[in-house]
Amino acid sequence: MTLPPRDQLLRLRRTLLAYTASILHLLLCWLLFGAGFMSLSLGGMLVLSFVVLASGVLFLLSIWLNLNLRFHDPSLTLVQMCWAIAVVFISAYFVENLRALFLMMVLVVMMFGAFRLRLGGFVRVGLFTLLCYAVLMAALWWRGAAIEPRVELIQALEFFVLVLGVSLLGLEMSSLRNVLQQRNHDLHQALERIQQLAITDELTGLYNRRFANELMSQQKALADRGQYGFVVCLIDLDYFKTVNDRFGHAGGDAVLRQLAELFRHTVRDVDFIARLGGEEFLLLLSRTDTAGAEHLVGRLQEALRDKLWEGFGALRLTFSVGLSAYRGDEPWEDTLQRADAALYQAKEEGRDRLKSL
Ligand code: GH3
Ligand code: MG
Ligand code: MG
Repeated sequence: MTLPPRDQLLRLRRTLLAYTASILHLLLCWLLFGAGFMSLSLGGMLVLSFVVLASGVLFLLSIWLNLNLRFHDPSLTLVQMCWAIAVVFISAYFVENLRALFLMMVLVVMMFGAFRLRLGGFVRVGLFTLLCYAVLMAALWWRGAAIEPRVELIQALEFFVLVLGVSLLGLEMSSLRNVLQQRNHDLHQALERIQQLAITDELTGLYNRRFANELMSQQKALADRGQYGFVVCLIDLDYFKTVNDRFGHAGGDAVLRQLAELFRHTVRDVDFIARLGGEEFLLLLSRTDTAGAEHLVGRLQEALRDKLWEGFGALRLTFSVGLSAYRGDEPWEDTLQRADAALYQAKEEGRDRLKSL
């Protein structure tokens, strides 16, 4: 069985909390029943209990089965609150003498609005409560219950002042929650941006040296677990100083950016390319052997030969490559060291070539 996602778990928890409050309300009804304050038969009490318990289970089930997701507000806060308020008023109809005190349960229901409702929601619940109150009074009057209008009016006033006070508190808590949520969201985004910056080379947008080291150590860990091997290629542009001499440093930067774009488009999605600094790049190829890596470098050389440099006319660029495959049970620094030595050889032997060690 898979657990519901985090949001649904939170909704389940709150609905369970509301269910607990309903059960407490039921216990109170049974207490009043036992003490003779309920004008309801045992059968009536059992029906009331069944309705309250079953409706709570229905709410819980609808969240567990994701049926709540079809509604505009999947937390079902407004529906649950109105239902709970209706239940309080229905049971209040049967309470003798202690009705005003009994209705205080509505305040507990109001507090649940703090989790979700905004002003409009609180107004709607407030109006619903008012309606329930009016219906209760009318029903009592219809039944011929002894109603003292002055006392009822004062009790109603007091009740609504309390409901209003608790609603205002709930509203304040709800807006605090929203501010916190927004701040959390902003912080999360800022953190993501910082994390992105920490692993990115500013000029080219490729990974930077720090992240390249991290990737190497990750690849080593995977290879040591026997999952697959990897190959590193150190790429250094040939005679790049002359590019700077011809086009200036800013021109050289623009060439490096275009080159990064070419690398990005040519390597596979599973490969990593990082700029280690200057005009030196690291290509990290996982699930690849030396032959596969040589093939990819060949494709890069070809792409570079065919490249039309925007704004740099007939610029021709080549690079030298030092390649080394991870040999297993060696520090990744050793693999990189071999690639560096191979790159040195490629330069020594005349550049524009690949050497592997
Ligand atoms: P070779 O590698 O073939 O020996 O010659 P090279 O001219 O490329 O020499 P080297 O690799 O030793 O020097 C790299 C040059 O790249 C030095 C510097 O002028 C240039 N360079 C390094 N970093 C940057 C950069 O961020 N922007 C620009 N525009 N140029 C850079
Ligand atoms: Mg160079
Ligand atoms: Mg260099």
